[in-house]
Amino acid sequence: MAQTKVVIIGSGFAGLAAASCLAQQGFEVTVLEKNSSPGGRARKFHAQGYTFDMGPSWYWMPEVFESFFNRFDKSVADYYELIRLDPSYQMIFGHGDFVHIPAGFQELQATFDRMEPGSGARLDQFLKQAAIKYQAGMQDMVYKPSHHLGEFINLKTLKGVFTLDIFKSFDKHLRKYFHDRRLIQMLSFPILFLGASAKDTPALYSLMNYADLKLGTWYPKGGMYRIVEAMVAQARSLGVNIHCDQEVRQIQVTKGRAQGVLTQSQHWPADVVLAGADYEHVESQLLAPEYRTYSPKYWEKRTMAPSSLIYYVGLNKPLPNLEHHNLFFDEDLDYHSKEIYDNPCWPTKPLFYVCATSKTDPTAAPPGHENIFILIPVAPGLEDTQEVRDRYFQVVIKRMENLLGEEITNHIDYCRSYAHKDFVQDYHAFKGNAYGLANTLKQTAVLKPKIRSRKVKNLFFTGQLTVPGPGVPPSLISGQVAAGEIAKFTQP
Ligand SMILES: Cc1cc2nc3c(=O)[nH]c(=O)nc-3n(C[C@H](O)[C@H](O)[C@H](O)COP(=O)(O)OP(=O)(O)OC[C@H]3O[C@@H](n4cnc5c(N)ncnc54)[C@H](O)[C@@H]3O)c2cc1C
Repeated sequence: MAQTKVVIIGSGFAGLAAASCLAQQGFEVTVLEKNSSPGGRARKFHAQGYTFDMGPSWYWMPEVFESFFNRFDKSVADYYELIRLDPSYQMIFGHGDFVHIPAGFQELQATFDRMEPGSGARLDQFLKQAAIKYQAGMQDMVYKPSHHLGEFINLKTLKGVFTLDIFKSFDKHLRKYFHDRRLIQMLSFPILFLGASAKDTPALYSLMNYADLKLGTWYPKGGMYRIVEAMVAQARSLGVNIHCDQEVRQIQVTKGRAQGVLTQSQHWPADVVLAGADYEHVESQLLAPEYRTYSPKYWEKRTMAPSSLIYYVGLNKPLPNLEHHNLFFDEDLDYHSKEIYDNPCWPTKPLFYVCATSKTDPTAAPPGHENIFILIPVAPGLEDTQEVRDRYFQVVIKRMENLLGEEITNHIDYCRSYAHKDFVQDYHAFKGNAYGLANTLKQTAVLKPKIRSRKVKNLFFTGQLTVPGPGVPPSLISGQVAAGEIAKFTQP
């Protein structure tokens, strides 16, 4: 019997995860990627002896990766070596106010106590609740396709709703436990970077704090792209065909069924199409209007996660005061947050993040040099010009020089910027978003764009704009959930 053909649009984590799961179940799988290398937002590039991971740099929730590879009787260790970072990261609140976030829990409690007496014990209580949310969220909720609310109605989830404040605002929940401005900022940062302001985010997402402070921050030796390489190798070992430089221009639909897709050079027939490219692009650019589930008005009303203004910088000297991950939170978080979500504009006094991979990984930069990735989270949809990029570069470099007490400007031997225009050009990202849809209450689970098209029977969606949401682990999960739905759909 002929194999069922699945064409997957896009080779991000979601598309690659789905590809392996489907191939394992006997489907003939082809992945079509518009860019010249796989990996989507997690691609890498080399320049002047530096190797830059282009997107994700925080490796959290290691068991999600492990359980993905376990599906194929493999382990993460078969593909790459993980290093636990200690300190996990460094918060820079001002001159001489640098706080290391240690990997060990007792040291972490002591750090909290130094910042707010008594908060170490409250951290324990806060994280015990967060642990229950993590178990419920990561084991029960995120692996559900979210077709309807009924999927979530079980005793454990109901208990969680009533006892764990999961629908309360994250900000209010946090302030029940902590008062120190710096602690509030530190515990809010995963929310800010991955999706929405703390006041609009359900307290369910304190599970991110559990992931951060209990499960740890890890680094795949050789860089984040090692994950992509591992997933590509896994998929290929199961017979998946991955074709780069194949931009899908159209999903061909007849009588409500996708027949295949069209790229610039070829027709690719399919029994099922799985779109791993940005949802809005697929609906509004690749489908005829009568086959779109969501209108332009629907997309306009979505709260998108932030975009990012990024600088990939090579320095010809090391910066001793930097750690691998550094959060420059020396300005007001609430103010910056408002300029992303409430009143979208270029930030007046931006907070920013600096990743110095070369602190852990000597292959990331030539000897004696530093590989620096600077990221400012910014509102999607802003006008992105060279003038703005140059201006913010001066701002962040000056702030770094000032806070780190190091001359930087004259040591820059490589710099590339990346922002909205690049996200649109490289990934067809709606409004140049970096992380898909924001994790607001109104955009959680069943309220996200659906994993299955309502108008085209055999068209499915995966990735950070559908369930469960933005981030590498959720995208990996999204691919597995979509593959499960396709398997159910094709069963006789
Ligand atoms: C700067 C940045 C930093 C981040 N930091 C972190 C982090 O530290 N930790 C973390 O967990 N997450 C992080 N994230 C989020 C994480 O990287 C994403 O959630 C995840 O990579 C999304 O994967 P995806 O498969 O959904 O989408 P993508 O990676 O965007 O994959 C979609 C693919 O579809 C392709 N495509 C688009 N249109 C077409 C078309 N017409 N035809 C063919 N192919 C097409 C694109 O080229 C792309 O390869 C970060 C993201 C960014 C951008």
